[in-house]
Amino acid sequence: MKNCIFCKIIAGEIPSVKLYEDELVYAFMDIAPINYGHTLVIPKEHHTSVATIPENIAGRMFLVGSRLGVAMRRALDADGFNLHLSDGTVAGQVVMHAHLHIVPRWTDDNFHWNWRQLKYESDEQRDKMAAKIQAFFQLKKDDSEVADAEA
Ligand code: AMP
Ligand code: ZN
Repeated sequence: MKNCIFCKIIAGEIPSVKLYEDELVYAFMDIAPINYGHTLVIPKEHHTSVATIPENIAGRMFLVGSRLGVAMRRALDADGFNLHLSDGTVAGQVVMHAHLHIVPRWTDDNFHWNWRQLKYESDEQRDKMAAKIQAFFQLKKDDSEVADAEA
């Protein structure tokens, strides 16, 4: 897609430090890492939202991401890794070409997710919430989902 920074990286129009590439995905070093080694995996097809990515490409993104995490554990002596994906501006997505972050973690890296833990007011409230989500859940992509994702 024109004017997409990650499409330009895939096309070689903007430089990147490539770690892996195949017919479906491209992995490269994040320019402003949370920890050194922080990597991004992106689909070669332009998708703004992860919701429109076909199963084979989404599966490859997750597989490559998790194997890069293993490589970070072995190569960098990382103690673990985070896979992170922000979908939508409100979720923190800045680059509008879907991407999976792989962040190597060390026990003393002094980075903490700002992760709150709310409590449901009641089991009923929780169960209603589950039912509501379930009613809209579908694995098969349809037009309304694509419209949502691209809104
Ligand atoms: P997000 O907030 O999930 O959209 O993350 C976008 C990520 O892309 C950030 O971690 C940026 O540091 C990274 N980024 C932006 N431009 C580049 C670039 N030219 N090369 C590598 N990483 C980039
Ligand atoms: Zn793009």
